[in-house]
Amino acid sequence: PRITPSAHARRRIGIMGGTFDPIHNGHLVAASEVAWVYQLDEVIFVPTGRPVFKLDRQVTNAEDRYLMTVIATASNPRFTVSRVDIDRPGITYTIDTLRDIRSLHPDAELFFITGADAVAQILKWKDVHSLFDLAHFVAVTRPGYSTSADALPEEFKVDALEIPALSISSTDVRERARKNEPVWYLVPDGVVQYISKHGLYA
Ligand code: ATP
Ligand code: MG
Repeated sequence: PRITPSAHARRRIGIMGGTFDPIHNGHLVAASEVAWVYQLDEVIFVPTGRPVFKLDRQVTNAEDRYLMTVIATASNPRFTVSRVDIDRPGITYTIDTLRDIRSLHPDAELFFITGADAVAQILKWKDVHSLFDLAHFVAVTRPGYSTSADALPEEFKVDALEIPALSISSTDVRERARKNEPVWYLVPDGVVQYISKHGLYA
């Protein structure tokens, strides 16, 4: 059979980590823009288990966050969802996420996608120096946060990418749902319906 040139190229995979409590259109635009600009073949959304920077607050159970992520990404042929973080016991560290995805895709080129606020915490991440051996890092702009990639030390190789500004946060969506305010168009329709069906954030 004829082998097309693209069959030889290394597969390019984005990794979009997040609590996704719930997933919203800001996450989806970020993943879509990075996929477009970096010509990614796939973006894997990875809902966290126990997020290390959110140990002080209650997080919705992992199965609900996972299912909302599946619902939100189902219509995009390049978007998939991985359970590696929610199936790994204990606190979620990005280094473990990257190692697990790497072992599942040994030949792929990996691109870890974060928002400007998450990258600001990069210095606090576990095994920060090994992170850059495992993946490229892309920090997307987020309203209300300055892109601090420039402020990072030289050895932290992080690309900054400007994306369409969506001033949406999961915190705001939860707060709106709690107060019975509309969340339409902030999150995909299926997620609006999932939140109301299961009484999340009530
Ligand atoms: P919370 O308010 O609960 O922290 P969040 O909206 O920040 O939720 P997370 O799940 O914490 O969502 O974020 C996952 C990733 O998506 C992070 O890298 C974050 O910076 C990025 N991100 C979240 N919202 C946006 C947005 N509106 N624009 C760009 N990036 C975003
Ligand atoms: Mg956040």
